[in-house]
Amino acid sequence: MGDSTNINKKAVAQNTYDAIVIGSGISGGWAAKELCEHGLKTLVLERGRDVVHLKDYPTATKNPWDFAHRGELPADITKNNPIVSRCYAFGESTVHFFVKDNEHPYVQEKPFDWIRGYQVGGKSLLWARQTQRWSQYEFEAPARDGFAVDWPIRYGDIAPWYSHVEKFAGISGNKDGIPNLPDGEFLPPWEMNCVEKHVQGKIHANYKDRPVIIGRCAHLTKPAQVHLDQNRQQCQARTLCERGCPFGGYFSSNASTIPWAEKSGNLTLQTDSVVDSVIYDDKKGKATGVRVINAKTKAATEYFAKIIFVNASTMNTNLLLLNSVSNRFPNGFGNDNGLLGKYVCFHNYRGRVSSTIDGFEDEYYYGRRPTGMVIPSFRNVRKQEMDFLRGYMVVYGAGRGRGKVKPGMEEIGADYKDALAEAGGWGVHMSMQGETIPKESNHVRLSKDKKDEWGVPQLVTSIAYDDNDEKIVKDFLAQASEMLDKAGCRNIQPFDSKQAPGLDIHEMGGVRMGKDPKTSLLNKWNQFHNCKNVFVTDGACMTSTGTQNPSLTYMAITARAADYAASELKKGEL
Ligand SMILES: Cc1cc2nc3c(=O)[nH]c(=O)nc-3n(C[C@H](O)[C@H](O)[C@H](O)COP(=O)(O)OP(=O)(O)OC[C@H]3O[C@@H](n4cnc5c(N)ncnc54)[C@H](O)[C@@H]3O)c2cc1C
Repeated sequence: MGDSTNINKKAVAQNTYDAIVIGSGISGGWAAKELCEHGLKTLVLERGRDVVHLKDYPTATKNPWDFAHRGELPADITKNNPIVSRCYAFGESTVHFFVKDNEHPYVQEKPFDWIRGYQVGGKSLLWARQTQRWSQYEFEAPARDGFAVDWPIRYGDIAPWYSHVEKFAGISGNKDGIPNLPDGEFLPPWEMNCVEKHVQGKIHANYKDRPVIIGRCAHLTKPAQVHLDQNRQQCQARTLCERGCPFGGYFSSNASTIPWAEKSGNLTLQTDSVVDSVIYDDKKGKATGVRVINAKTKAATEYFAKIIFVNASTMNTNLLLLNSVSNRFPNGFGNDNGLLGKYVCFHNYRGRVSSTIDGFEDEYYYGRRPTGMVIPSFRNVRKQEMDFLRGYMVVYGAGRGRGKVKPGMEEIGADYKDALAEAGGWGVHMSMQGETIPKESNHVRLSKDKKDEWGVPQLVTSIAYDDNDEKIVKDFLAQASEMLDKAGCRNIQPFDSKQAPGLDIHEMGGVRMGKDPKTSLLNKWNQFHNCKNVFVTDGACMTSTGTQNPSLTYMAITARAADYAASELKKGEL
């Protein structure tokens, strides 16, 4: 850490690049692609192993009966991994892409389910691919409603970059013309089934402020030339996505941005490289590189570059910046105002409502659609009108159960088998994606006494819900129940999972953007206010959470910042 003046100059030359990107997940993949396309020799440092598209998806084409436990995980794995086992996508077919609890411990001062994927591609292999744009209302909200700090950018700054990433990643969706969920560059949308359309019709008839749309998602419903050029093919609607897609039908760094960056000839991808800190050079007054611990040998090496993009994912970005201490920054990188690691926020996923609906028994649906219905936030959108701040997006779907199994039926024999072969009744399920308000008390910091296997201090998470979140859950449960009731649903069952923060896997903040160096860490180009050659463009940079799925915004912010960094570098400004 710190001063690098005493090190071997030959090694310095060998280890020097134009740009370093820390992390190869969703945001790091975009940084790599853009910087390489701009002609910069770019080193991507990834702490995990390589996962090569197609080659390293061992379960992608397996049938249920090919798995030793038919998709379930043995009890010893779930017992030893209680945190990651709570993630719906963790199972026998995906176990190899998730971080195991005991291999990467952290300290939960308050319960926080930290779900991670340490490999090339990061969580881009595992995500649910929902990609709704932010609108002007989310960027204006903190200033308007008086929480967090004002965003230094507005929708107009980011809109062209949304278009840029949507065209390349491939986003399916419908042009719905909704002001608080702007349209993008869409491939054809997925279709609603008959019950979803019925519920949509009833909601439209009863609520003027609640448009229901088919969720926009990163799937190639009809690949364009730019997707074929990436060797990606049409999505087959298998929804086995989290195993890695042999068709490249959904967007992942592995299928898309990383191979594209490689094609430029400018990428060096180095795996098993745990970045423990960013090196700051007091004499030069800027960052000169990063310190890396080899994940296997534990040997430390330094790498140098003119610009550094930190894309290790929200919590790890906070961790490695807090661990980057120097004479200039004794309390963590760029941390003059003491706010690094603070104002961490996330999405509130606690509320769910299930129900059934009679009829529609002669109708069915084909294929496994990888998205659901979305009702954009309808609370406090244009002005403050509830007794809580901000709001929530509603997601719903309808499907038929399996089997006309009568209550009490013996689960064996020909009758049972016949009953199972029939389609069952319809269910309609709603869930929420609630905004949380960034607060100073919701923070992460370094443990003073606990280190991981690589000698890096463990992260302490101190993050909790507050009264605002309780009110949002209550409002969602009441509104969702009412909407289902108006749609003619029965057996309506509201449920508060009370799950810990983190399981939403949308953690954000800690290194927030803002206009004022006294109250934020990053400027409008995602540069540190006080060290312009270090950029943070993953979720850590987020000033507030919005109600939309965040990764599309990370991608757009990253592409925008990388373009700016490359042009500043060419001008000799960095
Ligand atoms: C099951 C699931 C469903 C999800 N669904 C959605 C969704 O529908 N929509 C949505 O918008 N988001 C979704 N997400 C969240 C989404 O995956 C993340 O927002 C996104 O991957 C974050 O991108 P990132 O680049 O910040 O981090 P990641 O994709 O996690 O990549 C970070 C990379 O950095 C590496 N790294 C970490 N620390 C270091 C270090 N010290 N040195 C070197 N490398 C390091 C990691 O190994 C990893 O490869 C979902 C996530 C999961 C797991």
